[in-house]
Amino acid sequence: MTSPAAPVVTTAKIVEPTIFEISSPGRRGVNMPASDVPETALPPKDLLRSDLPLPELAEVDVVRHYMRLSKFNYSVDDGFYPLGSCTMKYNPKINEDTCRLPGFLYTHPLQPIETVQGNLALMYETQEWLKEISGFAGITLQPAAGAHGEFTGVLMMAAYHKSRGDTKRTKMLIPDAAHGTNPASTGMLGMSVVTIPSDARGNVDLKALEAACDDTVVGMMLTNPNTLGMFDEHIEQVIKLVHDCGGLMYGDGANLNALLGILRPGDLGFDVMHFNLHKTFSVPHGGGGPGSGPVGVAARLADFLPAPVVGIVEEAEDDLPPLYGFITPKQSIGRMKAFHGHFGGGLVRSYTYIAMHGPNGLKDISQYAVLNANYLQARLRDTYHVPYDRICMHEFVAEGQFAGSDVRALDIAKRLMDYNFHPPTNYFPLIVHEALMIEPTETENKDTLDAFADALIKIADEAKTSPDLLHSAPHITPFGRMDEVKAARELVLCCWLPEDYNENE
Ligand SMILES: *Cc1c(COP(=O)(O)O)cnc(C)c1O
Repeated sequence: MTSPAAPVVTTAKIVEPTIFEISSPGRRGVNMPASDVPETALPPKDLLRSDLPLPELAEVDVVRHYMRLSKFNYSVDDGFYPLGSCTMKYNPKINEDTCRLPGFLYTHPLQPIETVQGNLALMYETQEWLKEISGFAGITLQPAAGAHGEFTGVLMMAAYHKSRGDTKRTKMLIPDAAHGTNPASTGMLGMSVVTIPSDARGNVDLKALEAACDDTVVGMMLTNPNTLGMFDEHIEQVIKLVHDCGGLMYGDGANLNALLGILRPGDLGFDVMHFNLHKTFSVPHGGGGPGSGPVGVAARLADFLPAPVVGIVEEAEDDLPPLYGFITPKQSIGRMKAFHGHFGGGLVRSYTYIAMHGPNGLKDISQYAVLNANYLQARLRDTYHVPYDRICMHEFVAEGQFAGSDVRALDIAKRLMDYNFHPPTNYFPLIVHEALMIEPTETENKDTLDAFADALIKIADEAKTSPDLLHSAPHITPFGRMDEVKAARELVLCCWLPEDYNENE
């Protein structure tokens, strides 16, 4: 399969009418039924509005408006989405069926536990499966996403030290390849961050680590494989150094897609780790979907888990199932979230995915994810410089720049959109100049990988022959090159503003 030629067109300026502008007085989307409850008096007059400026539209107007907007988007269901670190795998549609089963969909977290035994059984089994997959002794399903899991995990680390009267520990060791959420989670707890450099092969620099280890260390947060896609070649020594100074080892589990069925972080000696169910276990994410960041802990931290965790409160008798309920760990750090985590959107989908694949299927996932990344790396390394050039895990990082050219990673990323590919992550990790971080995932076939590699090789050629084509890309999207700084600094999430809107109010 060869990549399609990207057409060269100038970006048409699209002026998308807002839902307010297509409003017309008197149009209706609903017919209100006759009231079937007794009428009551209205609240006092000063609490009532005389005017409510809402758009007036028929159902078909609304459907067409949002359908049109949705076509401006790009998604995993549209095409290849190699956004490094984000694991944008295809999400099997069976997940959508199971999470909409009425027994899951129409339950409320405050129902008596006898009436939600199915939900609790699903949560219990998810905990058990995550333990088996990761090698940890206890699991909380509460955290809403990976970053929230980090915060939860670091809280438990602090509680562990405090419970032992070990109050000197205020420093967290974090490698320079880390995701920004690691120092952010640590900083939110008032700890200081000591950055540990990476060595020339993309491992933690052991000398620097050794120098930083002392009795003020809370622990270390490490992503393994790290954000360069490199498995740390001295992982056991790294963990030993941290443990020897009394620190705890936090695993950022965002890259678990490389390890399923192959290696268990708990067995390696990690003390605590978050899972990103929305990455590894196929929950749609990006665009605000529900995250889910369960945390696994080693036995010595199990008593500190957030409360409650799902457990068996009455053992099974005869052929009957046990009674599931909620249990409060002895030294719990408390509740991290209202209710019990993202149940339907996160847990039911991930449960379905794990059940569907089983142990061998999960191992296949990681092996194919690693194979796909290595295939792309092998096809691209002669065209794009790969600074940490060894066998990678599920992703790798190339440089989006060429000697003697003013083309940058951003230009390459934007030009890829003209070839109908979502760009890779760029400018991260920070230790690679003009980084292009490519994670193909296991769900792509060889034709797609080849088409993507062909496009990137062609773009490298365009960078020589017609660099302006790249500087001005993308050309085929509804909107052209954005002012990224302005978009970040002056974010406008609502495209319609009332005439008297004052942003300083
Ligand atoms: C995605 C990611 C996180 C944060 O997870 P969220 O679920 O987005 O909060 C942390 N570390 C790494 C390496 C990641 O890729």
